[in-house]
Amino acid sequence: MTDLKPYEQYLWSPKREEYENTEIPEDIDCIFCAQAEGDDRVTKLEVFEDDFLMVELNIFPYNTGHLLVVPKRHVNSLTELEDEERNRLFAMVAKVQELQEEVVDPAGIDVGINIGEAAGESIPHLHVQLVPIYEKDRGFMETSLDTKVMKKSLTDMQEEYRERVDILEDYW
Ligand SMILES: [Zn+2]
Repeated sequence: MTDLKPYEQYLWSPKREEYENTEIPEDIDCIFCAQAEGDDRVTKLEVFEDDFLMVELNIFPYNTGHLLVVPKRHVNSLTELEDEERNRLFAMVAKVQELQEEVVDPAGIDVGINIGEAAGESIPHLHVQLVPIYEKDRGFMETSLDTKVMKKSLTDMQEEYRERVDILEDYW
């Protein structure tokens, strides 16, 4: 069990992020629903999207290459998915594992779903997180300063994943 956490601070070792993380407008109830509807007021670092789901980078990553798989329909429990939706969702989760192994070559991958605030849920719309774990993740910055050193910028990471989007395309 790794102690994944949302870091307070990031040190972007390659370069400063290109995008500005803007305020979420008040009339947006759910960030993922807004993304699914194509609302361009919310940032979406998309790797793949179809009529059923989105694969995107977490803009507050726990680690370099952190991806989210999000069904577009607003549900917040595995039990609210139809059987076919659940199978389709996890077929993509398996493909995303393959994508991460190919692109970022992690030592391991932490796959998780937080259902309910008590479980650390931040957005009440079901999403599966895949966080690559690397051999040398426990450096001084992480252990002493509560700061995550990110090896690549989000947009560079997005670009690298998108170059291998073929791995995801035939998931279903
Ligand atoms: Zn939603």
